[in-house]
Amino acid sequence: MASKPMDKKPRSAQGMYSKYIFGIVLLLVLGFIFRESLGVRWRLLSADLFPCKNPITYSIGAFDTRFGISKESFLKAVREAETVWEKPIDRELFSYAPDGYLRINLVYDYRQNTTQTLQRLGFKVDQNKASYEALKQNYESMVSQFEQTKSVLEPRMEAFDIRRNIYESDVRRANRQKNISKEEYERLRAEGDSLEREIVVLNEMRADLRKKVEDINVLAGALNDLAKALNLDVAHYNEIGDSFGSEFTQGLYESHGEGEGITIFQYNSYGKLVRVLAHELGHALSLEHLDNAGAIMYRLNEGDNETITLDDLLALKTRCRIK
Ligand SMILES: [Zn+2]
Repeated sequence: MASKPMDKKPRSAQGMYSKYIFGIVLLLVLGFIFRESLGVRWRLLSADLFPCKNPITYSIGAFDTRFGISKESFLKAVREAETVWEKPIDRELFSYAPDGYLRINLVYDYRQNTTQTLQRLGFKVDQNKASYEALKQNYESMVSQFEQTKSVLEPRMEAFDIRRNIYESDVRRANRQKNISKEEYERLRAEGDSLEREIVVLNEMRADLRKKVEDINVLAGALNDLAKALNLDVAHYNEIGDSFGSEFTQGLYESHGEGEGITIFQYNSYGKLVRVLAHELGHALSLEHLDNAGAIMYRLNEGDNETITLDDLLALKTRCRIK
């Protein structure tokens, strides 16, 4: 059944005022004692009673510079995300305040590290099957490149070892002898120089191989996460007994005793950042996930549209009790 519109009829003015004042006194007293948790409960309660009436104030919390975005640009992205919801219904739903209630954080961990590694390698990864398949192909070609380099390096290292052993025993023998020929001396010196050059090359190849292993591992991790995120749609029952149970989470909205917060972990372009922010702001408005893959409230950041879809709009209007 559709929710009942708010009763806006005023009762007796005096009764209303005394109730209001008592409410404020009570709030101040309780507020003093349980400032944090009451703040959350009051915010959620008032949002339930008067949805979309008072703008949710937000501020920037943790901010990691490793994302390579300035605070100003990040705030600009938040403002754009805000507009995604506000413009279609022409209402102020969020507003920035330095001590704003909803903390928006930018936290750097393996997720953005993965994204940046993938970008460095020239891959653009989206949360869809095509992207997964492309990534898988790249992974396989990187593994075969790795195997190839390894197959060149290994025999070269073995050959080096043999040469070095011979060289070292030759040098020992020469040291035992009182005098060696000039030719033998020159030969040993040339061989020593050649071995030194070879070890530089081998070390470079080894470092390159080690780097390849790191990249391959990052790719493998991204593939696993992506597979997991994409499979959730098909087999929800797989979640049970799964110790990880997390998607390739780009953002998170949390509400608990200490407050409300949005944390962004990963994005690969400014447009996607705006989208993930808009999605989490949607949760802050109490919106749930939608099935349409293009919707802002779809559980994966798949689309490229920075405007809400019709079903997003419908959910917003239902929440804000707009007809
Ligand atoms: Zn979500």
